[in-house]
Amino acid sequence: MPRTSARFDALAAATGWEPLASTNGEKPKTFNDVEEIFGENTFGMAEMRARLPKQVYKAIARTIRHAEPLDPSVADAVALAMKEWAVEKGASHYTHWFQPLTGSTAEKHDSFITPNAGGGAVAEFAGKELIQGEPDASSFPSGGLRATFEARGYTAWDPTSPAFIVETPAGCYLSIPTAFASWTGEALDTKIPLLRSMNALDQQARRALKLFGVEVDRVTATCGPEQEFFLVDQEFFYRRPDLVTTGRTLVGAKPPRGQEMEDHYFGAIPDRVLAFMTEVERELYRLGVPVKTRHNEVAPGQFEMAPIYENANLAADHQQLMMLTLRRVARKYGMACLLHEKPFAGVNGSGKHLNWSLGTDNANLLEPGDTPHDNMQFLFFCTAVLRAVERHQDLIRASVAYAGNDHRLGANEAPPAIISVFLGDQLTDVFEQIEQHGSASSSKEGGLLGLGTPVLPHLPQHAGDRNRTSPFAFTGNKFEFRALGSSQSVSFPATVLNTIMAESLDELCTALDAELKNGTGFEDALSKLIAQEIRRVKRIIFNGDGYSDEWHQEAEGRGLLNLRTTLDALETLHDEKNAGMFEKYGVLTHRELESRIEVVYDQYFKTVNIEGETLADIASTMLLPAAVSYLNDLLASAARAAEVGLPSNGVLETIRKVNGLVDELRSSLDALIAQNEELGGDDVVSKSHHMRDHVIPAMAAVRAVVDKLEKIVPDSSWPLPTYRDMLFIK
Ligand code: ADP
Ligand code: MG
Repeated sequence: MPRTSARFDALAAATGWEPLASTNGEKPKTFNDVEEIFGENTFGMAEMRARLPKQVYKAIARTIRHAEPLDPSVADAVALAMKEWAVEKGASHYTHWFQPLTGSTAEKHDSFITPNAGGGAVAEFAGKELIQGEPDASSFPSGGLRATFEARGYTAWDPTSPAFIVETPAGCYLSIPTAFASWTGEALDTKIPLLRSMNALDQQARRALKLFGVEVDRVTATCGPEQEFFLVDQEFFYRRPDLVTTGRTLVGAKPPRGQEMEDHYFGAIPDRVLAFMTEVERELYRLGVPVKTRHNEVAPGQFEMAPIYENANLAADHQQLMMLTLRRVARKYGMACLLHEKPFAGVNGSGKHLNWSLGTDNANLLEPGDTPHDNMQFLFFCTAVLRAVERHQDLIRASVAYAGNDHRLGANEAPPAIISVFLGDQLTDVFEQIEQHGSASSSKEGGLLGLGTPVLPHLPQHAGDRNRTSPFAFTGNKFEFRALGSSQSVSFPATVLNTIMAESLDELCTALDAELKNGTGFEDALSKLIAQEIRRVKRIIFNGDGYSDEWHQEAEGRGLLNLRTTLDALETLHDEKNAGMFEKYGVLTHRELESRIEVVYDQYFKTVNIEGETLADIASTMLLPAAVSYLNDLLASAARAAEVGLPSNGVLETIRKVNGLVDELRSSLDALIAQNEELGGDDVVSKSHHMRDHVIPAMAAVRAVVDKLEKIVPDSSWPLPTYRDMLFIK
């Protein structure tokens, strides 16, 4: 039933949405112009080839394709061409776009304008402005890497990620992807370690391939991040201070009907949402982001979009553009896009699946082929992944640890906090043969699937089924890391995967080299090594139901880690096993890693602290008054009933109930306020523990009372839109 109050009717009426229009106000004439519009707002290879002198183009192409260092002398020519292109597109400003440790993106705009001698001005942009920026970005988290009085920081052009034009109703500007470092050259962002980890992986993977007699220019980490999100009506969004301030609802009773009917998942996409998605796709195409799929997700109001994979650095930049675009375009359709991991309690949360593999120019190194048992190169790389995950379960878990994701991991909707690998029937069988006999002689085949009627085609059947409960699943020719939260940058998880894989390949190659030196033949040495490693790390393989209680017990029996909360996981980052590895492969120095850990604690503490304060505010100034006002009405009607001599047992019983809840709310609220004011210590670690152990339970206590009140106080005087109002977007 819709709400009856006039206020909410007016809200609903106000949420009309405009028909599909591109950002510059023109209605697109056709939807068949993807080839034409793809990348039109990027200064990509085609644009550079057309505008740059041949030698300059060749130099920059070598940097982009083969990660060769860029000759600084080409920067001036690139800057000139880039500026001309941007100005033709209507840009008046440029910005160095970077990704500080907040996990989102940052930009500071400069205009192209330079005054000239005649009292006028010209548009100028030199190579030095392209290559280096110096934002006074002292307020970004640095985890102690610098104090605010040491404000100097540098942004450095990343030529491997194309510059792009951002269009807004207020005009457009040129955005240049950059890295962000301190004055001392230490990484203050998520891009630098990612690029360094790709480099480490490249070196070790090429070394491994050489042993197989394969010489390639480069091995690249590839990523395809799937993005889940909720859409709610913007009017409702702005009526919920908790959504506006914290991204999630801090109170709200479960609606009588949520996702139980399972009729939303893959259902027909509502018109308004489809129009929104279509515009998101078009905006992303123009930015060169290859979005591919769109569908309804499990919860009502929940959706997913996913691109085609790209190299990890580009995928990470494009993932940020996708989140920005989802948020921006939603507003045009009168909606708010919620990227929080758990905007609604009791309904599925949102994740981000990071599909990850490694490839050469023309081959995916995790492609098993039809007969994986005799594909020794694949088995070698796959073994390297298994032992990397087994050794660094803690680090993988820590890479997805933050306050928002604690609501998902381990709840029965997202993979558990226990890290394990799903391999599927076919590969598990191959590795079991190797484990038992030292080698494998067959691979299970898929066959053809008949559907019991002559009119339907026979379908090729995969050799194994899928599993959606595993945090790290092999899905045919890539691994799918499923524990990321929906709001998260993919950079650090990808950095971790690249680095642990580099280490694993390094160690395997070293072991193999030693055997070869002993005079063992290559094939024998390889089989022996794979068999030995599989026997050692097989506990990490789990193909069963990751959501079940039995798995928790079994995992404990296997000695696998179960780091339930963010704070349990973060502690493991300090281990020399992890910190030493990051330093050894040139990804993060000890100081850089420590600073990052400090930042994550700080964000954890602040997130919960702000949630606690927001809840206390809403409860004190909106919900308690609503309950008291209802109590007042009830008391008045009881008094009037007594005056006219009417029995009023029902009213009196309601009075007792509401009065009891008002009492409970007052006392739980006071407890929350007290806990949230006491910070539990001076350092971020003690403060974070205080938040987890005292403030989160105090918030839960307040919420329990509020959600009971929501079910008693009249609909028309409850001050917040309810789950029922918000969850069913039309
Ligand atoms: P599913 O996971 O449902 O099988 P897809 O095959 O469409 O769906 O893949 C999901 C995501 O995985 C997409 O973003 C896709 O581009 C990405 N992906 C596919 N191959 C690779 C790869 N080699 N490396 C990284 N990501 C990949
Ligand atoms: Mg998938």
